[in-house]
Amino acid sequence: MHKIGILALQGAVGRHADALTSLGAVAVEVRAPDDMDGIDALVLPGGESTTMSRLLGTSGLHGPVAERLAAGMPALGTCAGMILLASEVLDGRADQRCFGAIDVAVRRNAFGRQVDSFEADLNVEGLEGPDFPAVFIRAPVVERVGEGVEVLATVDERPVLCRQGGIIVTAFHPELSGDLRLHRRFLSEI
Ligand code: GLN
Repeated sequence: MHKIGILALQGAVGRHADALTSLGAVAVEVRAPDDMDGIDALVLPGGESTTMSRLLGTSGLHGPVAERLAAGMPALGTCAGMILLASEVLDGRADQRCFGAIDVAVRRNAFGRQVDSFEADLNVEGLEGPDFPAVFIRAPVVERVGEGVEVLATVDERPVLCRQGGIIVTAFHPELSGDLRLHRRFLSEI
C-alpha cells in the first residue's frame, strides 16, 4: 500500500485525501519535516502558491521536499501545486520560490480575471474512457515546455496537464470532479 503525503500548509487538501484513500492509499498531511518520513510520493494541492511558498520556508519543509524531489520522489502538483513544482514562474511574487522538479514555465492566473473559474472536458492522452471533467480555478497555464516534458492535455492549444518522469502537473483541480482516473494513474506509476 502506498503512503502518500499531501502538502497541507494551505489550500485544497481534503478532497485529495478522499481520492487517495478511496483508491486504497494511505494519505498523510504534511505540515512539518517529520511528516515526510516514509512517504512514497507527495501531492502539492491547489491554493495560493505565494502563501505556500512562504509557509514552505517558515515550516522548514522547503529543504526536505526539495531533497526528496531531487532524489526522484514522484509528485502530483495541482494548480498552485503545479506552480510550486515548475522550473520558472511568470507573474509570481519576487520572493516566490519553486522546486524546478519539472521543466516548465508557468504563468499564474493565466486565463484572465473575467474567466477566473471554468470547467472543461479534457481529452487526456493515455486515459481510457470519456473526456476528463476538469475544474479550473484562477488557473495557471504552461507557457514553455522543456525537452523531456510530455503534454498530456491542452485547452485552446495551451498545455494544462504535463508530465516529466514521476512528476505530473495539472493547471486544474482533478480532485474536485469526482473522477479518480488521474489519481489512479499517479498511484499506479509509483
Ligand atoms: N492563482 C493561484 C496561485 O497563483 C492558484 C489557484 C489555485 O490553486 N486554484 O497560486
